[in-house]
Amino acid sequence: MPSSVESPARVRTSAPGPVPWIAMYHSVGDCSDDPYRVTVSPGRLDRQLCWLRRRGLRGVSVAELLAARARGEGRGLVGLTFDDGYADFLGNALPLLSRWECTATLFVLPGRLGGDNVWDPLGPRKPLLTADGIQQAAAAGVEIGSHGLTHVDLTRADDTLLRAETAGSRAALEELTGAPVTGFCYPYGTVDRRAVAAVREAGYGYACAIDPGRLSGPHVLPRVYIGEQDTAVRLFLKHRLHRLRRRPVEGLR
Ligand SMILES: [Zn+2]
Repeated sequence: MPSSVESPARVRTSAPGPVPWIAMYHSVGDCSDDPYRVTVSPGRLDRQLCWLRRRGLRGVSVAELLAARARGEGRGLVGLTFDDGYADFLGNALPLLSRWECTATLFVLPGRLGGDNVWDPLGPRKPLLTADGIQQAAAAGVEIGSHGLTHVDLTRADDTLLRAETAGSRAALEELTGAPVTGFCYPYGTVDRRAVAAVREAGYGYACAIDPGRLSGPHVLPRVYIGEQDTAVRLFLKHRLHRLRRRPVEGLR
């Protein structure tokens, strides 16, 4: 581990405690046909949020989590993220988030408004939110972040496509929501230094990956996959093990 990461001063000033715990969800609905394991049932999500609250934790958007940590707060907060912007978010996830007094970040694809998950050819077609649906989520207090324009692997994109997927999607979402968009999420979780640089240059304040390996920092935040099989016991282990496995994120604000 580099000495700068171990420096007590650095750890104290960057955030309270270790790297933030950010959960990764996708679709919330019927998970009987789910080859990519991207769906949790509403009942399971309800029990997972109940478990969080009973442990004294509250799920919030990543922007809120990072802002709280920058103020030296946020110990009882975890990040909740929903990738791809499935239409089922409004009817299935949002009522449960409000019931448990949680918020979340929704990473959407402004190049596929009202489309479906065409990048996942097996399994059921899952409709994506329309512009109106994204505006409804934003009006309900959900943070809207970018998942790129069309769900492409940024590590394989040429310069023009990379710019469109990062800067272009941010501009499109800011116009759609009428609000600043500060969060990005790498499609497939695939990320390299060039993609990170493009995301930073596009003006995003943070970006979520999945398991970024040696890359670290506010533009490659690791996340914990949460699925239908994650009972209270498994959530407990994922929450605990995360703190042991992850080192603090340098320079996180
Ligand atoms: Zn995705």
